[in-house]
Amino acid sequence: MASKRVYFFGARKAEGRGDQKELLGGKGAGLAEMTRLGLPVPGGFTITTEVCDQFYRLGKKWPRGLDGEIQRALKRLEHVAGKKLGDPVDPLLVSVRSGAARSMPGMMETILNLGLNDRSVEGLAQGTANPRFAYDAYRRFITMYGATARGIAREKFDHEFQKIKDERTRKRLGLDADAKVADTLVDEAELRDLVYRLKKVYLQETRQQFPQDPWDQMVGSINAVFGSWMADKAVTYRRVEKISGLKGTAVNIVQMVFGNMGEDSGTGVCFTRDPNSGENTFYGDFLSNAQGEDVVAGIRTPVKLSELERRMAPVYYQLLKDRKILEKHYRDMQDIEFTVERGRLYILQCRSGKRSPQAAFKIAHDFVAERLISREEAVTRISPEDIERLFYPVIDPSVPKPDLEKRKLAQGIDAVPGAASGEIVFTAADAEAAAAAGRRVILVRRETSPEDVGGMHAAQGILTATGGKTSHAAVVARGWAKCCIVGCEELDIDPAAKELKSRGKTLREGDVVTLDGGTGTVYEGALPLVKPALPAAFHDVMKWADSFRRMRVRANADTPYDAKKAIEMGAEGIGLCRTEHMFFDTEERRFAIQEMILADAPAQRRAALDKLLPFQRDDFAGIFEAMDGRPVTIRLIDPPLHEFVPHDRPKQEELASRLGIDPETVARRVAQLHEANPMLGHRGCRLCITYPEILDMQIRAIIEAAIRVKRKGTDVKPEIMHPLVMDRKELEFLEKRTRAVADPLLKASRLRIPYTVGTMIEVPRAAFLADQIAEVAEFFSFGTNDLTQMTMGLSRDDAGRFLPDYVNPGGAAIFALDPFQSLDFEGVGGLMTMAIEKGRKTRRGMKIGICGEHGGDPRSVKFCHEAGLDYVSCSPYRVPIARLAAAQAVLSARKRR
Ligand code: PEP
Ligand code: MG
Repeated sequence: MASKRVYFFGARKAEGRGDQKELLGGKGAGLAEMTRLGLPVPGGFTITTEVCDQFYRLGKKWPRGLDGEIQRALKRLEHVAGKKLGDPVDPLLVSVRSGAARSMPGMMETILNLGLNDRSVEGLAQGTANPRFAYDAYRRFITMYGATARGIAREKFDHEFQKIKDERTRKRLGLDADAKVADTLVDEAELRDLVYRLKKVYLQETRQQFPQDPWDQMVGSINAVFGSWMADKAVTYRRVEKISGLKGTAVNIVQMVFGNMGEDSGTGVCFTRDPNSGENTFYGDFLSNAQGEDVVAGIRTPVKLSELERRMAPVYYQLLKDRKILEKHYRDMQDIEFTVERGRLYILQCRSGKRSPQAAFKIAHDFVAERLISREEAVTRISPEDIERLFYPVIDPSVPKPDLEKRKLAQGIDAVPGAASGEIVFTAADAEAAAAAGRRVILVRRETSPEDVGGMHAAQGILTATGGKTSHAAVVARGWAKCCIVGCEELDIDPAAKELKSRGKTLREGDVVTLDGGTGTVYEGALPLVKPALPAAFHDVMKWADSFRRMRVRANADTPYDAKKAIEMGAEGIGLCRTEHMFFDTEERRFAIQEMILADAPAQRRAALDKLLPFQRDDFAGIFEAMDGRPVTIRLIDPPLHEFVPHDRPKQEELASRLGIDPETVARRVAQLHEANPMLGHRGCRLCITYPEILDMQIRAIIEAAIRVKRKGTDVKPEIMHPLVMDRKELEFLEKRTRAVADPLLKASRLRIPYTVGTMIEVPRAAFLADQIAEVAEFFSFGTNDLTQMTMGLSRDDAGRFLPDYVNPGGAAIFALDPFQSLDFEGVGGLMTMAIEKGRKTRRGMKIGICGEHGGDPRSVKFCHEAGLDYVSCSPYRVPIARLAAAQAVLSARKRR
């Protein structure tokens, strides 16, 4: 005998179960499960996904015996509902919906109000005492059925509707010719007329009368749902979402219930806990004598659930009971849709409820206290976005969407989340000056360079026309959790005129904009911002996460201030201190580094470096103190020198006069530093190969700072890191020189300060030769920003212009995600896995981490865990995200076992 093809549910009994998603689809399994729980779910039945598969195998025909099975299920449904399909007095109406094992929102068809015909519509009109409603339901059914089951162009039906509105409704109400006539204004008589006309369209298009027999309607609708499984949009969706291995869609036929059958009816939505605060209170809205669409459309204002208690106490108490049952069963906060038809409660749907980040923590925490879930499960319930949204200010969610739409000025790439508003300025110096005068500004640049850091720090937010998510602006802003939008190509920026143009508007210096770094949208004017408060449960849940993870989490931090922030966020060390940022902190430092760069001879260079030494030493000491014995990886100078010198004439003249040299000399030297491809040029450790005196100064500053702090009684653990290494001999040279400076200082101090010397792995060649490099390096840290750039041959600063074509599902969709944001597992990840294996073959148990931007991306963190890294390092504000992701990686591996 063929296996069972139709699964009935109703009157507290269900043939299916919640764990049969593959067979019954998500919706069918959910309806069966709720019925089994004894919830008042409307009755119905599910035709399995296997039938859909057979339907296609048989050349779009039903398998033998299916019709008999459906008819039997229908009989049972009529019995349970106490109504008959097509009945002229009190008709049963059903919905026919798709439902695959994986959700495919909006991709497949639904037909509502099946069972209406010229006779039963009158029964519905009488039953609801609302003929307008009955005819509205009928015209919707004819349209839905005609379009989906018979393929009639929807516009043909819409056209008739518009004609009725124009010819009758508009006249009756005396509306202007150009005024829009809402559907709700069309009255019963007009709807009757419309139904007549729609049936005529149906006849013209199909040469058949609109089916009056509900069984014919049923067959047509089931075939329409099966048909929609292979519709272009559904096939494309599955390809883009990489959904494969499914048999097809199930078909759910469910009794329709109506909340608009009088004052003892209604409809509502509720959450089993407050979705904003997470408090354990019943939360929701109810609208009496209304349908679900009325709640969504916001035509009438719903009342609180407490009002339902007053008006229909038995229904309310039943709902309360069901709330408990659902929470206990699903072990999560639920969002429930319900309808009351003539005093009888029906639960139509329940699913895990959407919640604010605050509520996510509170609910997970409370569920552990209530012994509904374990701590492990609580940790898996928090999403990285929950954490992200806890720390950044956002545009007040109560600002109406149309207001936002009207103010949209440009769209760029969402580099750092959060929101900020302020007056626009076009230079870093203007940003600093305005901030010093107490004004809030947004720094707008074509692109930023290290020279701009002062202005970037002073600004509330940063907006650039070029760049991607790991461009300079993005990396620096992320470190400060400063709202940042990059790659906003539609901005036409004229820094000289201090104005920008976008979408036909011109904004000048001082005009106010608001940035939404979470979406990459720029708005005109100031929008209200809100900063979420850290929920009390946050610390407990994060402590639980820490107890599960294996990997350590460090922060990328360049200043004592950042180091303190990192510790507040739970960092266990610094994985990357980019020393070059220290050179820009003050004018004095800036001039010292510029003097060093412009020097002609080593002695002159050394003199300039001597000026920088005390600054760096103080910074390192501050960082060591803040980190209080935790490891600190300090990376020597990395960017190409041209990034440190001024490129405009007035600034070059200022520098020349300060140094007492000719402006032409400055201009010439700057021109000499120009490289066609600076990212592959004289940068990273190559600078110290050419100018070892820079290394000498930086090592001296690190070790002297370490000695100073250790003397005061604080432990220090320096890890000295050389960037952009590509060869063992290169690192050997640098390592020897590092020790030659460090060791005598330490010896003279008579203190024991163990330090290590390691390298970044950020050039593919270094990954290939990791076994040789590990002969010298005591640790590795993957610089995945550069490693991605060089492995893929994609400029991290410019690729933002065309990467969307590679990533967007609507484009070529070559990559699922931006490889600068989320690790390219196959390419870059493959190199990492190889380097880890080779490195540890030479040096057993070698410490290996990651300090590229990927260290704060949850998906990449999981990869790092699986690849066996010891730690990830990311910007301080992403540390909690990485802590959570590292714990979730362990928990998901446990689950798989
Ligand atoms: C990297 O390349 O991944 C890295 C951390 O270094 P930077 O971003 O400073 O080049
Ligand atoms: Mg790098």
